[in-house]
Amino acid sequence: IALYNVDRWGGGYFTVNKRGNVTVMPNGSSDQKIDLTEIIREAKSRNLSFPLTVRFHDLLRDRVETINRAFADAIAESGYQNVYRGVFPIKVNQLREVVEEILDAGKPWHFGIEAGSKPELIAAMALHSDPESLIICNGYKDTSFIRNALVARKLGKIVILVVEKLEELKHILKVAADMNVEPMIGLRVRLLSKGAGKWATSGGENAKFGLSTADLVRASDMLAENGLSQALKLVHFHVGSQVPDIGTIKRAVKEASRFYAKLSKMGHQIEYLDVGGGLGVDYDGSRTTFDSSTNYSLNEYARDIVYSVMEVCNAEHVAHPTIVSESGRAIVAHHSVLIVETFGSIEKNSISTDTVTAEPGDPPLVQDIIELSENIGKKNRLESLHDAQEIRERAQSMFDLGMLDLRAKARIETVYWQIAEEVVAMFRGMRYIPEEVKEMEVALGDQFLCNFSVFQSLLDHWALGQLFPVMPISRLNELPDRNATMVDITCDSDGKVSKFVDLQDVKETLPVHRWVPGEPYYMGFFLVGAYQDIMGDMHNLFGRVNEMHIYLDEDEDAGYYVEEVLPGSTIGQVLTLTQWDTNELARRIKAQVDAAIKGDRLKPNEAMKLLDDYEKSLNTYTYLNFDDQNTK
Ligand code: PLP
Repeated sequence: IALYNVDRWGGGYFTVNKRGNVTVMPNGSSDQKIDLTEIIREAKSRNLSFPLTVRFHDLLRDRVETINRAFADAIAESGYQNVYRGVFPIKVNQLREVVEEILDAGKPWHFGIEAGSKPELIAAMALHSDPESLIICNGYKDTSFIRNALVARKLGKIVILVVEKLEELKHILKVAADMNVEPMIGLRVRLLSKGAGKWATSGGENAKFGLSTADLVRASDMLAENGLSQALKLVHFHVGSQVPDIGTIKRAVKEASRFYAKLSKMGHQIEYLDVGGGLGVDYDGSRTTFDSSTNYSLNEYARDIVYSVMEVCNAEHVAHPTIVSESGRAIVAHHSVLIVETFGSIEKNSISTDTVTAEPGDPPLVQDIIELSENIGKKNRLESLHDAQEIRERAQSMFDLGMLDLRAKARIETVYWQIAEEVVAMFRGMRYIPEEVKEMEVALGDQFLCNFSVFQSLLDHWALGQLFPVMPISRLNELPDRNATMVDITCDSDGKVSKFVDLQDVKETLPVHRWVPGEPYYMGFFLVGAYQDIMGDMHNLFGRVNEMHIYLDEDEDAGYYVEEVLPGSTIGQVLTLTQWDTNELARRIKAQVDAAIKGDRLKPNEAMKLLDDYEKSLNTYTYLNFDDQNTK
């Protein structure tokens, strides 16, 4: 457990049991645990192959409840004179089952939805049924977007159109007048407060969205000129996702509260202050301001928002607004786990443990490196590594000139890697590790071949270097004996995971157990429920992965039940998406098979079997299948 820090990043939802298997506690309590190896067994019994996304719906509900409670507690404790009404930004995970679960769990708190595009609004309108919960519309809007939002107003919903740029307000007012509906308007303010981290560009003066102070004044005037001052209902800001430092949140909330107060005093009856998203997830468990972490807890976040708004409003003598937040990542990140099968390992420098001894007639370089290996000690370990590197380079030059035979080269390289391994081992656990030794540790690492696509399932890792916790699902009561990076099955050298979370630093390899042919070894990619599902692309035509939705159930022997299985993409489906007609493909193969029969290259029986196999492939999963190769 300590090696992977699961108790730090697991947020109380993941741990390791006595049998050495990763265990999930979907409702955040150790009373109800699910062993992930049981889930793997269940998936296999249903012929569901890997990669497999497992969604824990109780976990999703627990996140919604925890966030709502944190705000309710902060409000009760501070004496804040209004309530919290959160919304879920659908863009963070649009899967219907996920959105439905979140809204259902959020019912007691009138939890609503945020939509940032027309398709998201169309879905939100239909799903939304609680007249007290909000629909917030962010993002740039055209006439049809605005019309749909106003139709929802006519249906009695609280739909707030957040203005991202001044011209949009003019447009909204015109469409609303045409439809004879009074709109509910929000203004996104462009704050000077800017955060740090990978998503910091959403805030600050150069942000893509938001109104400057001058624009806010023009917007206020425009509303007054149209007799619609009362239609301004909400002030909104968003400083970016995954804000690592609570200081950023506090500064931004205070700045936005000031805008709320001043706009209220200009004659608007603003009801809501929307603090956007940004509540971070501690992906590495370090509780620091690293990009993958947060230096604050959820309760601290809620308290700081409530107290900051209250402080400014009290000073400005304006009413406390309803506080809205649009947390997406913090609600959905934990609920899904991607389980991936390792189907091989490239031990780059497959190191022989046999001692290489000098033989008569060995070239001097062989003798030199053997001698070097016999004299490594604590004092000269780094020097020995440097000398070994030099001998290896000289051996390569001699080989290039045709002056070294293959056997001698192989013997030099074997001793070289033995020396490297010994030196790396001598530095293990030391506080200061020289750069070249760190590089050697990475070079000595294995490459685990994993049956998945980074581009489909972990896009932010590839695009932005976002880190996710990764660890083997089982054998965690055995000390790992190898270090490895994970490479995927796309034909792209970028398709790999070679940066791993750590409490102090980013690690370039992950401790793993040696891969044994025929024995399945599963890796878990955790906290992948936010953004990754939908942003994944179709590189190499690897499509969506199989999914299993799990609910806790004390009455079931296993303590859970599978509520739904969503099959991943088939070969035929991904081909159709790229304009291939599967019937036409089969027809073309049939023509080629017929020609082969005519030309006596295939017997009719054999030919029909080949055709059948081809057609069946169209209905199979796009990922690799190793069931026939696993012995256990
Ligand atoms: N609201 C807006 C306007 C956003 O752009 C985003 C995402 O960046 C969110 C909410 C969700 O943010 P998070 O996932 O950090 O909670």
